[in-house]
Amino acid sequence: MTPTISHWRAGAPFTGESPETAPVTNPATGAVTGRVALASVDDARAVIDAAAAALPAWRDTSITKRTAVLFAFRELLNQRKSELAEIITREHGKVLSDALGEVGRGQEVVEFACGIPSLLKGGYTENASTGVDVHSVQQPLGVVGVISPFNFPAMVPMWFFPIAIAAGNTVVLKPSEKDPSAALWMAQLWKEAGLPDGVFNVLQGDKTAVDELLTNPTVKAISFVGSTPIAQYVYATATAAGKRVQALGGAKNHAIVLPDADLDLAADAMVNAGFGSAGERCMAISVCVAVGDIADELVAKIAERTRTLNTGDGTTGADMGPLVTKAHRDKVASYVDAGEAAGATLVLDGRTLAHSGDLADGFWLGPTLIDHVTPDMSIYTDEIFGPVLSVVRVPSYDEALTLINASPYGNGTAIFTNDGGAARRFEVEVEVGMVGINVPIPVPMSYYSFGGWKASLFGDLHAHGTQGVTFFTRTKAVTTRWLDPSHGGLNLGFPQNA
Ligand code: NAD
Repeated sequence: MTPTISHWRAGAPFTGESPETAPVTNPATGAVTGRVALASVDDARAVIDAAAAALPAWRDTSITKRTAVLFAFRELLNQRKSELAEIITREHGKVLSDALGEVGRGQEVVEFACGIPSLLKGGYTENASTGVDVHSVQQPLGVVGVISPFNFPAMVPMWFFPIAIAAGNTVVLKPSEKDPSAALWMAQLWKEAGLPDGVFNVLQGDKTAVDELLTNPTVKAISFVGSTPIAQYVYATATAAGKRVQALGGAKNHAIVLPDADLDLAADAMVNAGFGSAGERCMAISVCVAVGDIADELVAKIAERTRTLNTGDGTTGADMGPLVTKAHRDKVASYVDAGEAAGATLVLDGRTLAHSGDLADGFWLGPTLIDHVTPDMSIYTDEIFGPVLSVVRVPSYDEALTLINASPYGNGTAIFTNDGGAARRFEVEVEVGMVGINVPIPVPMSYYSFGGWKASLFGDLHAHGTQGVTFFTRTKAVTTRWLDPSHGGLNLGFPQNA
């Protein structure tokens, strides 16, 4: 009997009425380790209703008391993050050190949210008009939904829920059905930290659960992260239902290497950012744009480093783990087939990787390096989301920039150069939301905001930082007259300040 991975409602596991479940696998062994509940519409409503029931008391809880719970959550998370990392590795496949890194970046957002008293301060203007004062307050939205992807089962939800909760909202998290257990672990941790029941809830499921969150009138806002087609659908559906939405989508991140760059630094960066987490990161570098005559040398350096990587079970010290599911592994491999058939040069072929014994049925694909890729190939145009690094050769910076700006995606990008002027020009000219200069994965700190441009984000506000606070609150401006109320009599004119 494999365990059922349930919902979390009002501070306790919740089975729901739906008999539907989906398998959850350990990608390193291929074994089914559990079955996740797939919510019916009624199950989703029951979870949303629990969040609504908890709202009035939580919204009215003092900022001091809310912040105390945030600090307690942060302490528990910091003490026990290795437990969460193990859960992530077991269901996602990424190596343990990477899983710990993900938790650490999520924890930084919790730490940011501990500063909510300063972040929520409104403004006050005395004597805006004679004897009239004006102040503004930031109030919570209500019940908010967070819908997250498989590739960061802890960090991506933590981009949102610490700030939402700190600001006085209640949350329904719908994690990916591929790795749903991290969400339940975090729910239990909130309970231990003293969060009142119903403030943080987990709704397991697929499109049925998502659609209910997008359309249920009790839910006031949606923070979504996933692939571009679903992000677009979520944005259109939830905004049509009158909700505030931020929907972060897919990516195809390019790194330009200029001829003057330190090629050893650039090669290290390409390998780390191309193959870390088996390329299943929205900030992974999937296209290396080699400018001028450095391509042969750069490709040789990348290949030399990539050959040293050990792909294996993430719990045993490997550099890179398996892909998340067999279907995803096969899809990624099919892009390599297509690139080869289209005439690109396979430098390193990960399709041949195999393991024996317990790992024989894991979802393995080794790091793959493919050169002489051109912009018409599907391996270039599509988000592959696997350990496949394409090299595109261009003669000049201008052509490299044109290539990036022509991409429908605009999540992350990087430039490698020793020329400050070129780097500055790139920073100004590139149409991408997050830019690295000699930094391949420029994930912003929690007190900046995370978000791409173009088809990588639908909505106006990015995740966390002050934009996150803006997203999870709405402003109320109050105009007050107490002293010397003037009895000016009837005056139907528009109020004038004096
Ligand atoms: P996905 O779009 O398949 O799923 C994301 C979420 O949407 C999951 O919770 C899933 O259950 C739900 N979902 C899937 N299909 C749906 C449908 N038809 N209707 C309603 N809901 C649906 O994404 P994924 O494969 O889990 O994650 C990988 C993708 O996420 C990649 O495209 C990656 O670039 C992107 N991503 C983006 C960022 C970012 O910050 N921009 C960060 C992480 C991941």
